[in-house]
Amino acid sequence: MKSIDLSNEKVITLGDLTAAAKDDTIELLVGENAVMTPSALEFTEQHRISVRRGGRAPAGGNDLFTSPEAEAVKEEICHVGRKLWQRQYVDGNGGNISYRIGPNQVICTPTLLSKADLRPQDLCMVDLEGKQLAGGRPRTSEILMHLEIYKEVPEAKAVVHCHPPHATAYAIVGRVPPTCVIPEYEVFIGKVALSPYETPGTPEFARTVIPFVKTHNTVLLGNHGIVCWGDTVTHAEWYAEVVDTYCWTLMLASQLGAPLSHIAGDKAADLLAIKKKLGLPDPRHEDKECAVCDLPAGPGSIAIPPPGRPASPRSEIEEIIQAVTDRVIAALQTKR
Ligand SMILES: [Zn+2]
Repeated sequence: MKSIDLSNEKVITLGDLTAAAKDDTIELLVGENAVMTPSALEFTEQHRISVRRGGRAPAGGNDLFTSPEAEAVKEEICHVGRKLWQRQYVDGNGGNISYRIGPNQVICTPTLLSKADLRPQDLCMVDLEGKQLAGGRPRTSEILMHLEIYKEVPEAKAVVHCHPPHATAYAIVGRVPPTCVIPEYEVFIGKVALSPYETPGTPEFARTVIPFVKTHNTVLLGNHGIVCWGDTVTHAEWYAEVVDTYCWTLMLASQLGAPLSHIAGDKAADLLAIKKKLGLPDPRHEDKECAVCDLPAGPGSIAIPPPGRPASPRSEIEEIIQAVTDRVIAALQTKR
Protein backbone atom coordinates (compact mmCIF):
# COMPACT_ATOMS: atom_id res chain seq x y z
CA MET A 1 0.00 0.00 0.00
CA LYS A 2 1.77 3.15 -1.20
CA SER A 3 -0.75 5.57 0.31
CA ILE A 4 -2.18 5.54 3.84
CA ASP A 5 -5.42 7.30 4.67
CA LEU A 6 -5.75 8.91 8.10
CA SER A 7 -8.06 11.67 6.92
CA ASN A 8 -10.62 10.93 9.64
CA GLU A 9 -8.13 11.61 12.46
CA LYS A 10 -8.04 15.08 14.06
CA VAL A 11 -4.62 14.43 15.64
CA ILE A 12 -2.03 12.17 14.02
CA THR A 13 0.53 10.63 16.32
CA LEU A 14 3.68 8.58 15.75
CA GLY A 15 1.73 5.53 16.95
CA ASP A 16 -0.91 6.04 14.21
CA LEU A 17 1.81 6.18 11.58
CA THR A 18 3.93 3.25 12.72
CA ALA A 19 0.77 1.11 12.90
CA ALA A 20 -0.34 2.00 9.36
CA ALA A 21 2.87 2.62 7.38
CA LYS A 22 4.52 -0.08 5.28
CA ASP A 23 7.97 -0.14 3.67
CA ASP A 24 6.63 1.20 0.38
CA THR A 25 4.44 4.00 1.85
CA ILE A 26 5.16 7.25 0.03
CA GLU A 27 2.04 9.27 0.77
CA LEU A 28 -0.11 10.10 3.79
CA LEU A 29 -3.66 11.46 3.44
CA VAL A 30 -4.79 13.69 6.34
CA GLY A 31 -7.69 16.09 6.93
CA GLU A 32 -7.25 19.73 5.89
CA ASN A 33 -6.94 20.94 9.49
CA ALA A 34 -5.51 17.80 11.14
CA VAL A 35 -2.68 18.35 13.62
CA MET A 36 0.42 16.20 13.37
CA THR A 37 2.49 15.70 16.52
CA PRO A 38 6.21 16.63 16.22
CA SER A 39 7.25 12.95 16.32
CA ALA A 40 4.72 12.08 13.60
CA LEU A 41 6.10 14.93 11.47
CA GLU A 42 9.63 13.65 12.04
CA PHE A 43 8.56 10.14 10.98
CA THR A 44 7.17 11.40 7.65
CA GLU A 45 10.38 13.34 7.03
CA GLN A 46 12.67 10.42 7.88
CA HIS A 47 10.71 8.04 5.65
CA ARG A 48 10.20 10.62 2.88
CA ILE A 49 6.41 10.29 3.07
CA SER A 50 4.65 13.26 1.49
CA VAL A 51 1.64 14.64 3.34
CA ARG A 52 -1.48 15.46 1.33
CA ARG A 53 -4.28 17.36 3.01
CA GLY A 54 -8.03 17.54 2.47
CA GLY A 55 -8.61 14.22 0.69
CA ARG A 56 -7.53 12.89 -2.65
CA ALA A 57 -6.21 15.52 -5.05
CA PRO A 58 -7.29 15.66 -8.67
CA ALA A 59 -5.10 13.57 -10.98
CA GLY A 60 -1.59 14.99 -11.01
CA GLY A 61 -2.44 17.52 -8.27
CA ASN A 62 -0.18 16.14 -5.60
CA ASP A 63 2.64 15.38 -8.03
CA LEU A 64 3.08 19.13 -8.38
CA PHE A 65 4.12 19.50 -4.72
CA THR A 66 6.91 16.93 -5.12
CA SER A 67 7.88 17.87 -8.71
CA PRO A 68 11.45 19.03 -9.51
CA GLU A 69 10.06 22.56 -10.09
CA ALA A 70 8.43 22.56 -6.64
CA GLU A 71 11.60 21.26 -5.01
CA ALA A 72 13.59 24.14 -6.61
CA VAL A 73 10.97 26.66 -5.41
CA LYS A 74 11.13 25.22 -1.86
CA GLU A 75 14.94 25.61 -1.85
CA GLU A 76 14.61 29.21 -3.06
CA ILE A 77 12.00 30.04 -0.39
CA CYS A 78 14.27 28.64 2.36
CA HIS A 79 17.25 30.61 1.01
CA VAL A 80 15.21 33.82 0.90
CA GLY A 81 13.87 33.11 4.41
CA ARG A 82 17.44 33.02 5.71
CA LYS A 83 18.26 36.29 3.91
CA LEU A 84 15.24 37.99 5.51
CA TRP A 85 16.28 36.78 8.96
CA GLN A 86 19.93 37.74 8.51
CA ARG A 87 18.90 41.27 7.48
CA GLN A 88 16.63 41.47 10.54
CA TYR A 89 13.51 41.86 8.40
CA VAL A 90 11.68 39.11 10.33
CA ASP A 91 11.41 38.62 14.08
CA GLY A 92 10.26 35.54 16.00
CA ASN A 93 8.08 33.54 13.63
CA GLY A 94 7.13 36.72 11.71
CA GLY A 95 7.08 37.11 7.95
CA ASN A 96 5.95 34.74 5.23
CA ILE A 97 6.87 33.79 1.67
CA SER A 98 4.89 32.17 -1.15
CA TYR A 99 5.13 31.21 -4.81
CA ARG A 100 2.30 30.53 -7.28
CA ILE A 101 3.36 27.24 -8.88
CA GLY A 102 0.12 26.36 -10.70
CA PRO A 103 -3.12 28.05 -11.74
CA ASN A 104 -4.69 27.15 -8.38
CA GLN A 105 -1.66 26.03 -6.33
CA VAL A 106 0.60 28.15 -4.13
CA ILE A 107 3.60 26.90 -2.15
CA CYS A 108 4.00 28.81 1.13
CA THR A 109 5.77 28.92 4.47
CA PRO A 110 4.15 27.29 7.53
CA THR A 111 2.98 29.14 10.62
CA LEU A 112 5.06 29.33 13.82
CA LEU A 113 8.51 28.77 12.34
CA SER A 114 11.41 31.23 12.19
CA LYS A 115 12.39 32.07 8.62
CA ALA A 116 16.00 31.30 9.64
CA ASP A 117 15.11 27.65 10.34
CA LEU A 118 13.03 26.84 7.24
CA ARG A 119 13.71 23.49 5.52
CA PRO A 120 12.12 22.40 2.20
CA GLN A 121 10.12 19.69 4.02
CA ASP A 122 8.49 22.38 6.23
CA LEU A 123 6.68 24.07 3.33
CA CYS A 124 2.99 23.75 2.49
CA MET A 125 0.78 23.97 -0.59
CA VAL A 126 -2.61 25.70 -0.64
CA ASP A 127 -5.23 26.51 -3.28
CA LEU A 128 -6.25 30.09 -4.12
CA GLU A 129 -8.95 30.02 -1.42
CA GLY A 130 -6.38 29.10 1.27
CA LYS A 131 -7.36 25.44 1.63
CA GLN A 132 -4.26 23.41 2.48
CA LEU A 133 -3.48 20.76 -0.13
CA ALA A 134 -0.13 19.45 1.12
CA GLY A 135 2.48 19.73 3.86
CA GLY A 136 2.74 18.32 7.38
CA ARG A 137 2.70 21.73 9.08
CA PRO A 138 -0.24 24.19 8.97
CA ARG A 139 0.11 27.05 6.49
CA THR A 140 0.83 30.65 7.52
CA SER A 141 -2.29 32.59 8.54
CA GLU A 142 -1.11 35.50 6.35
CA ILE A 143 -1.50 33.43 3.17
CA LEU A 144 -4.88 35.16 2.65
CA MET A 145 -3.09 38.44 1.82
CA HIS A 146 -0.75 36.63 -0.62
CA LEU A 147 -3.77 35.02 -2.31
CA GLU A 148 -5.54 38.37 -2.75
CA ILE A 149 -2.43 39.62 -4.56
CA TYR A 150 -2.30 36.55 -6.83
CA LYS A 151 -5.98 36.97 -7.67
CA GLU A 152 -5.59 40.69 -8.36
CA VAL A 153 -2.31 40.67 -10.31
CA PRO A 154 -1.78 37.94 -12.93
CA GLU A 155 1.95 38.85 -13.23
CA ALA A 156 2.56 38.23 -9.50
CA LYS A 157 4.29 34.86 -9.13
CA ALA A 158 5.86 35.39 -5.69
CA VAL A 159 4.97 37.31 -2.53
CA VAL A 160 7.17 38.22 0.45
CA HIS A 161 5.80 39.76 3.65
CA CYS A 162 8.18 40.94 6.39
CA HIS A 163 8.77 43.59 9.07
CA PRO A 164 11.94 45.50 8.06
CA PRO A 165 12.45 48.16 10.75
CA HIS A 166 13.06 51.27 8.62
CA ALA A 167 10.20 50.77 6.19
CA THR A 168 7.97 49.70 9.08
CA ALA A 169 8.90 52.95 10.89
CA TYR A 170 7.29 54.84 7.99
CA ALA A 171 4.25 52.55 8.16
CA ILE A 172 3.74 53.29 11.88
CA VAL A 173 3.80 57.07 11.43
CA GLY A 174 1.49 56.80 8.43
CA ARG A 175 3.89 58.39 5.96
CA VAL A 176 5.66 57.26 2.81
CA PRO A 177 9.13 58.16 1.55
CA PRO A 178 9.39 60.81 -1.21
CA THR A 179 10.34 59.78 -4.75
CA CYS A 180 13.14 60.99 -7.05
CA VAL A 181 16.00 60.76 -4.55
CA ILE A 182 17.88 57.51 -5.44
CA PRO A 183 17.76 55.91 -8.94
CA GLU A 184 17.57 52.22 -7.90
CA TYR A 185 14.62 52.89 -5.64
CA GLU A 186 12.89 54.85 -8.40
CA VAL A 187 13.25 51.97 -10.87
CA PHE A 188 12.45 49.01 -8.60
CA ILE A 189 9.81 50.57 -6.33
CA GLY A 190 9.16 54.30 -6.89
CA LYS A 191 5.86 55.44 -5.47
CA VAL A 192 5.18 53.11 -2.55
CA ALA A 193 1.61 52.66 -1.27
CA LEU A 194 0.41 52.66 2.36
CA SER A 195 -2.53 50.44 3.31
CA PRO A 196 -4.73 51.01 6.39
CA TYR A 197 -4.27 48.88 9.53
CA GLU A 198 -6.33 45.73 10.06
CA THR A 199 -5.90 42.73 12.36
CA PRO A 200 -3.25 40.41 10.85
CA GLY A 201 -4.43 37.04 9.55
CA THR A 202 -8.02 38.15 8.92
CA PRO A 203 -9.76 38.38 5.52
CA GLU A 204 -10.24 42.13 6.23
CA PHE A 205 -6.47 42.53 6.56
CA ALA A 206 -5.90 40.54 3.36
CA ARG A 207 -8.23 42.86 1.45
CA THR A 208 -6.51 46.10 2.57
CA VAL A 209 -3.85 45.71 -0.15
CA ILE A 210 -6.24 45.12 -3.08
CA PRO A 211 -6.57 48.80 -4.16
CA PHE A 212 -2.78 49.15 -4.43
CA VAL A 213 -1.19 45.98 -5.78
CA LYS A 214 -1.96 46.40 -9.47
CA THR A 215 0.08 49.58 -9.66
CA HIS A 216 2.60 48.99 -6.82
CA ASN A 217 4.89 45.99 -6.27
CA THR A 218 5.49 47.13 -2.67
CA VAL A 219 2.97 48.26 -0.06
CA LEU A 220 3.68 49.62 3.42
CA LEU A 221 1.14 47.94 5.73
CA GLY A 222 -0.19 50.43 8.29
CA ASN A 223 1.22 49.72 11.80
CA HIS A 224 2.58 46.37 10.64
CA GLY A 225 5.31 45.90 7.98
CA ILE A 226 5.54 45.56 4.23
CA VAL A 227 4.48 43.23 1.40
CA CYS A 228 6.22 42.90 -1.97
CA TRP A 229 5.36 40.86 -5.06
CA GLY A 230 7.53 39.91 -8.01
CA ASP A 231 8.14 37.40 -10.79
CA THR A 232 10.35 35.28 -8.50
CA VAL A 233 10.75 34.87 -4.75
CA THR A 234 14.28 36.24 -5.02
CA HIS A 235 13.10 39.40 -6.78
CA ALA A 236 10.28 40.00 -4.29
CA GLU A 237 12.92 39.86 -1.52
CA TRP A 238 15.08 42.36 -3.44
CA TYR A 239 12.21 44.87 -3.30
CA ALA A 240 12.09 44.48 0.49
CA GLU A 241 15.84 45.24 0.60
CA VAL A 242 15.51 48.22 -1.75
CA VAL A 243 12.63 49.83 0.16
CA ASP A 244 14.14 49.29 3.60
CA THR A 245 17.58 50.60 2.62
CA TYR A 246 15.91 53.63 1.00
CA CYS A 247 13.91 54.41 4.13
CA TRP A 248 17.04 53.98 6.27
CA THR A 249 19.10 56.27 4.02
CA LEU A 250 16.40 58.97 4.10
CA MET A 251 16.31 58.78 7.90
CA LEU A 252 20.09 59.33 8.01
CA ALA A 253 19.94 62.15 5.44
CA SER A 254 17.17 63.91 7.34
CA GLN A 255 19.53 64.21 10.33
CA LEU A 256 22.20 66.09 8.36
CA GLY A 257 20.48 69.45 8.69
CA ALA A 258 20.25 70.13 4.94
CA PRO A 259 17.33 69.63 2.56
CA LEU A 260 17.31 66.60 0.25
CA SER A 261 18.41 67.27 -3.30
CA HIS A 262 16.14 65.69 -5.90
CA ILE A 263 16.72 64.07 -9.27
CA ALA A 264 15.51 66.65 -11.82
CA GLY A 265 12.22 66.09 -13.67
CA ASP A 266 13.64 65.04 -17.06
CA LYS A 267 16.18 62.67 -15.46
CA ALA A 268 13.42 61.26 -13.27
CA ALA A 269 11.35 60.67 -16.41
CA ASP A 270 14.31 58.67 -17.82
CA LEU A 271 14.15 56.38 -14.77
CA LEU A 272 10.42 55.91 -15.21
CA ALA A 273 11.03 54.92 -18.85
CA ILE A 274 13.61 52.30 -17.74
CA LYS A 275 11.07 51.02 -15.25
CA LYS A 276 8.38 50.67 -17.90
CA LYS A 277 10.82 48.75 -20.13
CA LEU A 278 11.52 46.32 -17.25
CA GLY A 279 7.77 45.74 -16.93
CA LEU A 280 7.65 47.03 -13.34
CA PRO A 281 4.39 48.63 -12.17
CA ASP A 282 4.06 52.30 -11.21
CA PRO A 283 0.92 54.47 -11.05
CA ARG A 284 2.85 57.21 -12.85
CA HIS A 285 3.01 55.10 -16.05
CA GLU A 286 -0.68 55.79 -16.65
CA ASP A 287 -1.08 59.23 -15.09
CA LYS A 288 0.06 61.79 -17.67
CA GLU A 289 -1.09 64.72 -15.53
CA CYS A 290 0.80 63.80 -12.39
CA ALA A 291 4.22 65.16 -11.62
CA VAL A 292 6.88 62.45 -11.60
CA CYS A 293 8.28 63.47 -8.22
CA ASP A 294 6.70 63.70 -4.79
CA LEU A 295 8.70 66.25 -2.85
CA PRO A 296 8.39 66.28 0.93
CA ALA A 297 7.44 69.30 2.99
CA GLY A 298 9.38 67.94 5.96
CA PRO A 299 12.64 66.00 5.86
CA GLY A 300 12.40 62.50 4.44
CA SER A 301 8.72 61.67 4.40
CA ILE A 302 5.42 62.75 2.89
CA ALA A 303 1.98 62.63 4.41
CA ILE A 304 -0.70 60.41 2.96
CA PRO A 305 -3.94 62.35 2.45
CA PRO A 306 -6.92 61.20 4.53
CA PRO A 307 -9.16 58.63 2.78
CA GLY A 308 -11.39 60.15 0.12
CA ARG A 309 -9.09 63.10 -0.57
CA PRO A 310 -6.81 62.82 -3.60
CA ALA A 311 -3.06 63.30 -3.16
CA SER A 312 -2.21 66.74 -4.48
CA PRO A 313 0.63 69.20 -4.14
CA ARG A 314 -1.91 71.50 -2.43
CA SER A 315 -2.01 69.35 0.72
CA GLU A 316 1.78 69.66 1.00
CA ILE A 317 1.57 73.44 0.51
CA GLU A 318 -1.18 73.65 3.12
CA GLU A 319 1.08 71.75 5.50
CA ILE A 320 3.92 74.24 4.97
CA ILE A 321 1.59 77.24 5.39
CA GLN A 322 0.20 75.75 8.60
CA ALA A 323 3.70 75.06 9.97
CA VAL A 324 4.87 78.61 9.16
CA THR A 325 1.71 80.16 10.64
CA ASP A 326 2.15 78.13 13.84
CA ARG A 327 5.76 79.31 14.19
CA VAL A 328 4.92 82.98 13.58
CA ILE A 329 2.12 82.88 16.18
CA ALA A 330 4.44 81.12 18.67
CA ALA A 331 7.17 83.76 18.07
CA LEU A 332 4.70 86.64 18.52
CA GLN A 333 3.38 85.13 21.76
CA THR A 334 6.86 84.74 23.29
CA LYS A 335 7.70 88.40 22.41
CA ARG A 336 4.67 89.70 24.27
ZN1 LIG B 1 3.41 40.47 9.62
